[in-house]
Amino acid sequence: MKNEMPRLQYAFNELEPIISAETLEYHYGKHLQTYVGNLAKLVKGTEYETRDIEEIVATAPDGGIFNNAGQVLNHVLYFLQFSAPNHGSLPEGRLAGIIDRDFGNLEALKAKMEEAAINLFGSGWAWLSLDNDGKLQITQESNAGNPIRRGHKPLLCFDVWEHAYYIDYRNRRADYVKQLWNIINWQEISLRL
Ligand code: MN
Repeated sequence: MKNEMPRLQYAFNELEPIISAETLEYHYGKHLQTYVGNLAKLVKGTEYETRDIEEIVATAPDGGIFNNAGQVLNHVLYFLQFSAPNHGSLPEGRLAGIIDRDFGNLEALKAKMEEAAINLFGSGWAWLSLDNDGKLQITQESNAGNPIRRGHKPLLCFDVWEHAYYIDYRNRRADYVKQLWNIINWQEISLRL
């Protein structure tokens, strides 16, 4: 994966009413664009210039390069996990199997992910990832954090920085989080596994 803007598989208005075109104009078009631009400037002439984005996020020390690389990778995974609300899918195959094994069922996974996202203090991300033992984990990460820094494979993420939901939901973070399930493309999550 490179440090560049991901190509979205949907138009800005296609995630409505879960995520509005206006939110995407700011969140994808401005916030992510800024992280991509900042990272390109910061890595120029450093050892990180030729590394792919996952490697930078996994290895860069805390600081500007990590913060911007983390936010690039996190947002790429965030925006590419969505599809239009009427294309709703369910986990299948190996993914469905390990969800049942590790959480009991999909509803239990959803409840735990919502709790992580809603209760996260300040800006950050809730993550579903595969740990080093092949087990699914739900974790909270502050700011630009990504479980890839602990060697996990990131699968699904909820952005709970206020810029992700304030235009559409104002201070109602819980409403935003619960609505996101309606646009998750589980086929994409399976591919990441
Ligand atoms: Mn964001």
